[in-house]
Amino acid sequence: MRRTTRFTLLFMTLVLIAACKKEKPETKARAFFSEFKSDFLDDYWQHFPESATLNGYHAYDSELRIPDDSSRRKTRDFALSVLEKLNSVDAGLLDPQARTDYFLIRNEMQSLLWYTDTLKPWAWQPSSYNPAALIGYMLRGRYEPLADRLAHILDRLEKVPAYYEAARANISKPSKPHTQMARVITDGMIELLEKELPDSLQLAGLFGSNEQEIIGQALEASRAFRSWLGRLEEKGTFRNFRLGEALYERKFHFDLQSDYNPESLWEAAQYEKEEAHTQILRLTQKLWPRYFNETRHSYSLAESARLIDRIAQSHRPADSFLSAIRQQLPELIDFIREKDLLFIDPEKPLKVRVAPKYLRGIAIASISAPGPYDKYENTWYNVSPIWEMDADVAESYLREYNDYMMQILNIHEAIPGHYVQLVHANESPDPVKSIFGSSSMIEGWACYAERMMLEEGWGNNSPELWLMYYKWYLRIIGNSIIDIGVHTRGWDKDRVLRFLSEEAFQERSEAEGKWRRVQRSSVQLCSYFDGLIEILDLRDEIRSIEGEAFDLKRFNEKFLSYGSVPVKYIRKLMLEELEKNLPEDHSSDSLKR
Ligand code: ZN
Ligand code: ZN
Repeated sequence: MRRTTRFTLLFMTLVLIAACKKEKPETKARAFFSEFKSDFLDDYWQHFPESATLNGYHAYDSELRIPDDSSRRKTRDFALSVLEKLNSVDAGLLDPQARTDYFLIRNEMQSLLWYTDTLKPWAWQPSSYNPAALIGYMLRGRYEPLADRLAHILDRLEKVPAYYEAARANISKPSKPHTQMARVITDGMIELLEKELPDSLQLAGLFGSNEQEIIGQALEASRAFRSWLGRLEEKGTFRNFRLGEALYERKFHFDLQSDYNPESLWEAAQYEKEEAHTQILRLTQKLWPRYFNETRHSYSLAESARLIDRIAQSHRPADSFLSAIRQQLPELIDFIREKDLLFIDPEKPLKVRVAPKYLRGIAIASISAPGPYDKYENTWYNVSPIWEMDADVAESYLREYNDYMMQILNIHEAIPGHYVQLVHANESPDPVKSIFGSSSMIEGWACYAERMMLEEGWGNNSPELWLMYYKWYLRIIGNSIIDIGVHTRGWDKDRVLRFLSEEAFQERSEAEGKWRRVQRSSVQLCSYFDGLIEILDLRDEIRSIEGEAFDLKRFNEKFLSYGSVPVKYIRKLMLEELEKNLPEDHSSDSLKR
């Protein structure tokens, strides 16, 4: 008996070894990676419970990470252990979709390490402490009944005093613009705790003494943080907000995952700037007689500026700005359906609202989209309340977002720009691709949408609209130029404002806003131009391979179907797929570039 058993065991072992030997390395790598990936996401959310909530993953809604040394140590350990696991897989053996995930996760982990240990925004950007955005999102979300959301909010608020205490311990020498921004953000937090949250609790019939105490303590901590920020500002010892060449180059690499680098993007931007000036002069020559009743021998950018200024006079009054935006969205949808440019899901409507306070101060309009896990949340089109601004500031904004520019803004933010792209991204089968999305792909798509809509005849090829488009295009190009200029080439406020008004036709308010923004952020401003030229390059490439068979709708939908991943990966996937579908003799050299 015993012998037989032994023999059987031995036999089974031999069979197993044989089976393992027979298994292909591809199969093994794929199985390992898909198992790794399913564990990875939950681990990731556990480490970053705030991002989990904001992405619609609600398992850790009661957690608030205290941003101290020990949490940074955990982040470091986590990133290193993930990288170790990734290193044990040969990415070349994975299928194309999984390979993209592999590179996205690896970039994210390397980026985490670099942010934590080298860039260290936690030590000098007080504005990175923003619990209001999280609380606001939970308060307005529809993913759970109000009472449940409130319970989670209160769990998080209990940790807010420790949170702000850690924040204060982290910061020794902040940058001035990030300190000023933190003040505004913290004001928003205080307002939320004073008014909106108690109101909601009352509405839910949950405003008992326990709740009052938790809110009271969070409020006290927020106010203390706010006064501490004020004292920091009075003290006036600030570090330079500019990143400098070396940090900037690394941040560009991690944030954009582009084939471009700061140097090559700068070159491309200079080239496109000249191109846009040429187009603007051509349109000036065409439109000048219509607006000034005369013809000239030659035109310079100074005349173009006067013309743009004249055309900018057709704008909405402040109090109908929001309703004008609301009105235009269905017209854009109709046009896209009529021209069959891409699919727009009627089940996922876009709602226009006045921007909540914690979202103001960066741009006049923005989109808040639900994460990949809650596909049924609202997508919001946030519009800053121009009608509440001082009259001259408001007038300047209204001239900037005149009747022509407003169309481009709506295309960019909403249809078929950000809103349509994000809805598609959430349909992509894989959350990794949505979560570690590329800002270049996202902004690039919105900028591409403008170009595509005008090319397809939105606005009936009106020269005024094209003129305003090129002005807007110069803003996109200018974003890259001033971001690189300020952070790596010492451009100061004067240089930025001069560039924006003389070479990019920007209104004073827009230029001032851009100067504020470039001090508070870095690299992000490059994502527009970087993404746009990557997408236009790709479209040209595919058009030249497909020739007559090229179909714009197919290109648009295919492009959007991979989620918000860097354009360079989408390019690889699209070309690989194209390669498979092409007749034999076609396929050899199309992939080499
Ligand atoms: Zn006016
Ligand atoms: Zn955008």
